[in-house]
Amino acid sequence: MSLRPILIHHYPRLKTVADAVPEVDDTIRRLADDMLETMYDAPGIGLAAPQVGVGKRLLVMDCVKEEGAAPRPMVLINPEITWSSDDLNVYEEGCLSIPEQYADVERPAEVRVKWTDVDGKDHEEQFDGLWATCVQHEIDHLDGKLFIDYLKPLKRQLITRKMVKLKKERAREGA
Ligand SMILES: [Zn+2]
Repeated sequence: MSLRPILIHHYPRLKTVADAVPEVDDTIRRLADDMLETMYDAPGIGLAAPQVGVGKRLLVMDCVKEEGAAPRPMVLINPEITWSSDDLNVYEEGCLSIPEQYADVERPAEVRVKWTDVDGKDHEEQFDGLWATCVQHEIDHLDGKLFIDYLKPLKRQLITRKMVKLKKERAREGA
């Protein structure tokens, strides 16, 4: 396993709709392993393939937050929301591609999602709480959508300007 660099907004790959994974093979399994390691290292609770520059419909997440609780690393390949609740929930969201920026986003409180796992097996499960928010945020990434796209234009532009500045600073440090 190895860490992969996380793309920072704004970057064309983050705004592009990702392609379905035609077949779960070793390349996909290696990508999933790398993404889990990268997510835990960041640390974060979710990461989508476009964030590491891969335009494939694959995401990883683990929203277990309780101290001492066993981790639940999940890999969702070709995930699809099959049902959303009418009830909405507001969470303060952040994103590994938009470091240190947080904002309230309203989304369906519960969703049902079907996906394929790393063994090629199909699953369907209902998510609520933080899991529901996280899986919707990550599926948005596969559709080229960021959480700041839900914010008012002024707030979004402010965050985008901060990211441009951050990237310049990081480029300078790396030089
Ligand atoms: Zn994100």
